[in-house]
Amino acid sequence: MIHQNLRELRESINQVAQNSNRDPEEIQLVAVSKRFPLAAMEEALKAGQIIFGENYIQEAAEKKSALLDRIRLHFIGNLQSNKAKIAVETCDMVETIDRPKIVQALHKHLVSQDRHLDVLVQVNVAQDSHKSGVYPHEAESLLMYIKDFPRLRLRGLMTMPPYTPDPEMARPYFKALRSLAEQMKLKGLLGKSGKIELSMGMSHDYKVAIEEGATLIRIGTAIFGERPPLSQNRKD
Ligand SMILES: *Cc1c(COP(=O)(O)O)cnc(C)c1O
Repeated sequence: MIHQNLRELRESINQVAQNSNRDPEEIQLVAVSKRFPLAAMEEALKAGQIIFGENYIQEAAEKKSALLDRIRLHFIGNLQSNKAKIAVETCDMVETIDRPKIVQALHKHLVSQDRHLDVLVQVNVAQDSHKSGVYPHEAESLLMYIKDFPRLRLRGLMTMPPYTPDPEMARPYFKALRSLAEQMKLKGLLGKSGKIELSMGMSHDYKVAIEEGATLIRIGTAIFGERPPLSQNRKD
């Protein structure tokens, strides 16, 4: 199942990329394995998948300690600063930087572990007060702030638009993220060390996201099927 899903997904990504005159090689698939067991990740690994996305830091740490350097792990959930140490030990990228406090906490542990970490700033393009991420007009000051923390390598921006059954409705948010990234590049706050990452698009709207310039797409259900329910006794 997972093998087949991944194959179809990769074909679809290539197709959409070609139709929008993009190089499929510049689009990376993040397999969102949150709440799925290790066995599912093993199956995806066998099918050649390397990058996995997790939302819960404890679960991410457990999976990383089982799979080690066979995977690259992107953290895509809301990170609390008291979990920054585990994030530094566990993750290859944190996609959800949205406030100075988490920047400070990560940097402190990066210094003590003598490491660097790739990060994205999460932007709440829809300005939905129930969701995380900086509002677009706040992005510039957070990007400036991050400059003073050299162990964080700022690679780009991430967004998660409000869910709409029609993926076309997500297009304006994806456009807005790309346009914000371009403005930040002009101001010298993004893209100094090469490619700018745009993490946008999930199972139902990734095609639109690729058309609008996504370089990282985060896909769960289209690979692994329907997610098991959230367990009641989760600690993070
Ligand atoms: C769960 C999740 C995804 C994957 O969603 P699917 O609809 O299962 O593809 C992507 N991004 C984030 C931030 C998520 O929390």
